[in-house]
Amino acid sequence: SKATPHPIGEKSVSAFQRACKLMPGGVNSPARAFGAVGGTPLFIDRAEGPYLHDIDGRRYLDYIGSWGPMILGHANGEVIDAVVHAASRGTSFGAPTEAESLLAEQIIEAVPSVEKVRLVNSGTEATMSAIRVARGATGRNKIIKFSGNYHGHVDSLLVAAGSAAATLGAPDSPGVTPGAVGDTIVLSYNNVSEVEAAFAEYPGQIAAVILEPVVGNMGCVPATMEFLNCLRKQTTADGAILIFDEVMTGFRLAYGGAQERFGITPDMTTLGKIVGGGMPLGAYGGRADIMNQVLPAGKVFQAGTLSGNPVAVAAGSTTLRILKENPPYEYLEQQGDRLAAGLDKAANDAGIPHTVGHVGSMITLFFNPDPVHCWDDADRCDREAYGKYFWGLIGEGVYMPCSQFESLFFSRTHTEAMIDETIAAAEKVLREMA
Ligand code: PMP
Repeated sequence: SKATPHPIGEKSVSAFQRACKLMPGGVNSPARAFGAVGGTPLFIDRAEGPYLHDIDGRRYLDYIGSWGPMILGHANGEVIDAVVHAASRGTSFGAPTEAESLLAEQIIEAVPSVEKVRLVNSGTEATMSAIRVARGATGRNKIIKFSGNYHGHVDSLLVAAGSAAATLGAPDSPGVTPGAVGDTIVLSYNNVSEVEAAFAEYPGQIAAVILEPVVGNMGCVPATMEFLNCLRKQTTADGAILIFDEVMTGFRLAYGGAQERFGITPDMTTLGKIVGGGMPLGAYGGRADIMNQVLPAGKVFQAGTLSGNPVAVAAGSTTLRILKENPPYEYLEQQGDRLAAGLDKAANDAGIPHTVGHVGSMITLFFNPDPVHCWDDADRCDREAYGKYFWGLIGEGVYMPCSQFESLFFSRTHTEAMIDETIAAAEKVLREMA
């Protein structure tokens, strides 16, 4: 099938009308509603490899990959077989399985900071639990987060958050009490002096610093090495716990995540997305002495009826096995460089003010003439221009993130020819916008 150059099909329009009567905003997660770009979301029928197919029978080259998980492409045969096999043996037991230990071994072997791990059901659960454990282990209350970094909808972290929170302009959600964020110190990303000042002001009081080591949730914004080194040094000196939220970057920027790529080992790590192979699964882990604080080894409470779910574990475990046996990372680097350079050139040729944020297979074309290092920089982007770019590309059969403040992701099934097609489509759209 060929992509049709027409924005939205009738079936998606009526499906969205129906959904809006049933679910808040018609969706089960806000970014999906296309609120940031204005319009009706495409309803998806199925996906395979690099393609999404909507219910109107149109095909799109997918650059969100379920917002990160689908590094092997959609409906990978081995992953699907593993899921079907696991499901046929029962979907949940509420009792331990050997498969959980296999996945735990794979994670521990891959991720440098993880000596012990706990499986949960989402990235949100992973960060919520990691914060609790960090507070329990240190006996301290305060945490540091960075504006524009999103760590899921955890009350204490839902302040100056990126992703849909940034897009909807409501970083402080109604329903989050002042008490819940009263111990959260929000600093500017990549700002070393703010970090030093916070540790000087609250010595011995900061339980943890949590960050995305490459931000995906204000668009793709890499941390500088100076910033990461400063965080490692300050937390070690003060006895605070450094948490890398690698829900997006884990198993994507390298098999061992951003921490492997940058050679900086945090004390704890949160995982989601790829680790579950497209099923609901997250994980948090870290130094054994910290993780041994978790019940029933220690006293910090954290539990889950469906945690370590056999179907999700099968998808995650098979995904990690494939990534290890046949690593896509060199290919993703090459194609990431190609796509980032192509988008940059396309915008240059069209004379559109822009900057590109890029690490590996995470890329954002920012409609902002200046480099983006932190949320204040990202906030100066021309959101309207991004919307035009997004809809133009939908018309070309290319499905980009529906917000300026989300990184694109691609998979090992995106061929070089597809990357070139995408660049050509962007050239056309940007020329028409200029
Ligand atoms: N942390 C980061 C860095 C994320 O990108 C996300 C989700 N996009 C989360 C945490 C939350 O994960 P989930 O949506 O699975 O709860």
